[in-house]
Formats: sequence, structure tokens, C-alpha cells
Amino acid sequence: MISTHDLGRRPGSMLERHLSLPAPVDLGVDMIGVPKDAEVELDLRFEAVMEGVLVSGTARAPLAGECARCLDPISDEIEVGLQELFFYSDEDASEEDSLLDGELLDLEPTFRDAAVLALPLSPVCSDDCQGLCVECGIRLADAGPDHRHEKIDARWASLQGLVTENDNDQEK
Ligand SMILES: [Zn+2]
Ligand SMILES: [Zn+2]
Repeated sequence: MISTHDLGRRPGSMLERHLSLPAPVDLGVDMIGVPKDAEVELDLRFEAVMEGVLVSGTARAPLAGECARCLDPISDEIEVGLQELFFYSDEDASEEDSLLDGELLDLEPTFRDAAVLALPLSPVCSDDCQGLCVECGIRLADAGPDHRHEKIDARWASLQGLVTENDNDQEK
């Protein structure tokens, strides 16, 4: 909860604040999210308007997750824009609108919604990550360009033999 005590209620009054708040729990998708115990850095502007307090600004949070291709751990950061009008009274607000709780406002749902949309759906450790070998699971970046598997279907193996014999014949 963030206090709007210093702002007061006179329309037109304005405050800017830098805040550092603990990250909401369970903020993430399958492969990546904001780690628990992380801090969210907020640069916010509070403006008193007739109906309530308009909050706008940016939030930055660290990300931790796994590369969707090679499963290496990755860390990243997101920065999202926030804007939300917190109403003084539910008489002016509709059901989806946010309300002030006395002088306090809860920016967490606003941040959560914005952050989830900003998360990469398939995060990668680098844009040219080659991922894992589909045969053996080794990281292709470690395995080198010559990594491949000799795996021939039994039905083709006999043909392969024929081809090799013919090749040998030609070389003689
Ligand atoms: Zn990767
Ligand atoms: Zn392999």
C-alpha cells in the first residue's frame, strides 16, 4: 500500500515519488518471471483530480527464468508503464475501477497486469541460441558445428550398403 497523505485532496496538487517495493509473489509465466524477494523500482507521479488520485509512471523489475531453447538460466529486466485512476468513492467508479482505501492505494494489481503482458512468451538466452540436439539433448553451442548422429532407419540401412559398394566399385 502506498500512502497519498502528503498529496492531499486538492485537485491539481501533484507529487513525484521514487519507491522501491517488494515484488508481488507468483508473478510470472512458465519460463520466466519476477523472482521472489526481488525489488520493484517505481518512478511515480501522483496527481489529485476531482474523482480521485491519478497515478502514472514506470516500474522496473528483474526477471529470472530459463531459455526456451536450451534451458540455460537467464536473467533480464522489464520496464513497464503504469497508469491508474484511484477513485475516492465507489459512487463515481465502476466495478473494474480501483478505489482508494482511505489515504492508501494498492498499485500491485496495476503493476501485475502490466508486467504479465510484458513478459516474453519464449525467452531466449541469446537471439542466435541454437537450442538442444533433438537426439541427445546436448547444447548445440557446446557440441560444435560437427555434432550429428548416425542414425539410419533399418529399411534404409540395406540400401546404404548397396550405395557404398557401388561407390567403392567406381573408385577402383
Ligand atoms: Zn539458449
Ligand atoms: Zn546429439
